[in-house]
Order: sequence, then structure tokens, then C-alpha cells
Amino acid sequence: MNAFTYTRVDDVASAVRSIAGDGAARFIAGGTNLLDLMKENVERPSRLIDITHLPLRAIEPTSDGGLRIGALVTNTDVAYHPEIERRYPLLSRAILAGASAQLRNMASVGGNLMQRTRCAYFYDNATPCNKRTPGAGCSAIGGFTRYHAILGASEHCIAVHPSDMCVALAALDAVVHVTGPGGERAIAFEDFHREPGNTPHIDTNKRSDEIITAVELPARGFSELYAYVKVRDRASYAFALVSVAASLRMNAGTIEEGRVALGGVAHKPWRNRTAESALAGQPASRQIFERVADDLVRGARDCGLNAFKIPLAKRAIVRSLEQAVATNRGGRP
Ligand code: SF4
Repeated sequence: MNAFTYTRVDDVASAVRSIAGDGAARFIAGGTNLLDLMKENVERPSRLIDITHLPLRAIEPTSDGGLRIGALVTNTDVAYHPEIERRYPLLSRAILAGASAQLRNMASVGGNLMQRTRCAYFYDNATPCNKRTPGAGCSAIGGFTRYHAILGASEHCIAVHPSDMCVALAALDAVVHVTGPGGERAIAFEDFHREPGNTPHIDTNKRSDEIITAVELPARGFSELYAYVKVRDRASYAFALVSVAASLRMNAGTIEEGRVALGGVAHKPWRNRTAESALAGQPASRQIFERVADDLVRGARDCGLNAFKIPLAKRAIVRSLEQAVATNRGGRP
């Protein structure tokens, strides 16, 4: 492991000042991903800036009826917060489907957004990886691709984003608040993470001198009809092969609005608003769900060992929508 220095900051302005001009410095909160990356020599920060004492641990209502979650709130505290469970149960379900209780107790909201892919080649310094070393090549292409992307990939990177929480946040149209030298700004959740393109080493549109301060949930939480379906290789403590966050709003048997976000299939939580908009005005039938699932996954491309993900994603979408419909009939979401 490389030597690094350690600094603790106590307010957001100090955090921003501290990281300015030092591209090799890293913020650390829960450390549940960063420390792994440091142990594997994937991350070699010159400086760790401890942000755990920043006043970013509140969950509070916003003036327009939403909820603002501080970036340092732990995944556990989000999942079990009474207002999250009552108004945004999709988010609670997604968080509890991820990692382990111990990790959720440490992991922060901001860190969850910033966690890096679990592509095995990315963690293996002995293999070329464009995300680790731009221009080096991608060892996954032509390699072991069971866990890799079927949507939005590029010839430079086929990795997937590993978060469960972010899939729910994408479905809920959350907003990410960041602060940097230029002040505060808000980033729509679907614009926060990036497709790999020819710059797979850049995961997000947050600039390196900015810090995440909060995630804001809009007023509409889809608390009645929702489901999070996660398909994985074992029943717990595994990343998604495919996951789906589905939410519906219905009136007299007709869908008024449907949202579907996919995890485990792309470099970012995946939404296709055009495809999901076809749910509106339709009855909640398997036939409709299958048609929308086909459209949501249209254009998917496998890279060998992950070909099974394409039919799996379609079936998981149908199942999640059926479970969402069943939610307020006492069905298990
Ligand atoms: Fe690296 Fe991306 Fe290729 Fe994995 S898929 S080896 S992260 S470039």
C-alpha cells in the first residue's frame, strides 16, 4: 500500500478547500469501497480527507414535500428511517437487498453513489483495464463476462454499476446536491452516473473538486405500488446479475404512470423513459408488461457469457411490475 497523509475536516467549505488542486486526494467516509481499492493498489491517494465529522447526517423534509438525505447518513439509517419506510419503501427495499448489515451500517449515501464497479479485472492490477489505466485496454472483453453490461457499454468498457440503492434512486427521480469551488449545484440522478464511452475512468459527472452533500427525494414516493426484484448468484451478500426497481401509479385499473429502473446491466442505473411511458393508459396485464419489457431491453447486446442477462432482464421486469401491482393487495413486494 502506498503511503498517504490523513486530514480531518469539520465543515463543507473546509472539505472543498482541502481537496482543491489535489487530484490524488480522496474523501473518505465509511470507506467500504475505498479501503478495498487501496488494499488492491487500484486507488493510491496522496491524502485521505476524513469527512465523517461534516454536518451531513440529517434526513429532513424539503419545502416542496420531498425529503433531503444528508450524504453521510448510513445506508442502514436510510433504510429504517420511518419516513423512508412509509413514503419511499422502494428505496428501503433496494438498500436492504444490498451488501450485508455490517457494510450497510458503515456505508454512507454519498459513498454508495461513488462506489466503483466490481469488475474483477478492475481490481486485478496484473490485467489491463481502461477504467484503472486509460488507454490500457479492456480485459473483460473476450474474457469472463458473466457479470458485465448488456446496455450502454462501449468498446472501451463493459463494466456495470454495482449499487442497489442507486437503482431505486433512479426510479424515484432523485436529485444529487454537490458543492465545489463554484458553489452548490444540483444534478438530476440520471445525469449523475455516466456511460463509459471512451472515458470509462470517469464514473460520474461530479467534478473531482466537488463533494456530495445530499440526495433529495421528490414528493412522490410511489409508496403504494412498487417492487424491487434482485436476481443474484446467491441469496444474500451478492451483487445483482439483474435488478429492477418498478413503481406504478394506477387509477381504476388503468396505469397512470409507470417507472422501471434496471441495475446490473449497464455502467449506470438504467432508465428508458420512452419505453416505460408506454405503460401509461394501459391495464396492468402480463401482456402489456411483456411488451414494455421487450422495449426496455431492446438494443441490448451480450458479450458472450452474459447472454443470459437479456431474457433474464425481461423476465425480471415483468415480475417486478406484477409484484408492484400486488403490493396494495397484500402481495409481497
Ligand atoms: Fe476495466 Fe471496464 Fe474492461 Fe472491466 S469492463 S476490465 S472495468 S475497462
